[in-house]
Amino acid sequence: MTDKSDTPESVDSDCLEAFDHLYAYVNGELTDKKSVAMIEHHLDHCRSCFSRAQIERELNERLKNSGKNTAPVALENRLKKLIEDF
Ligand SMILES: [Zn+2]
Repeated sequence: MTDKSDTPESVDSDCLEAFDHLYAYVNGELTDKKSVAMIEHHLDHCRSCFSRAQIERELNERLKNSGKNTAPVALENRLKKLIEDF
C-alpha cells in the first residue's frame, strides 16, 4: 500500500482545486488574488501540477501563434489525416 496514486486524501483535493483554476490562471484570466496565490503556492510544491501548467502554457502559446499564421487550416488537415489514419 505504498502506491502514491492510491492515496486520494493527501494530494488530490489540493490538486483538484488547483486544476480547477489552472486553465484560467495560465490564460491570465484568474483575477482573484487569493486563487492566484493559492495556485502559485501549489505549483511551487507540486511537480505534477507544475508540469501541467507548463503544458497548458505551451499549448496556449501555440494556439496564439497558430491563430496568427492561418494554421487552423493546417490543423484541420492534420486532424483529417489523423482521422483517416484510424
Ligand atoms: Zn498538485
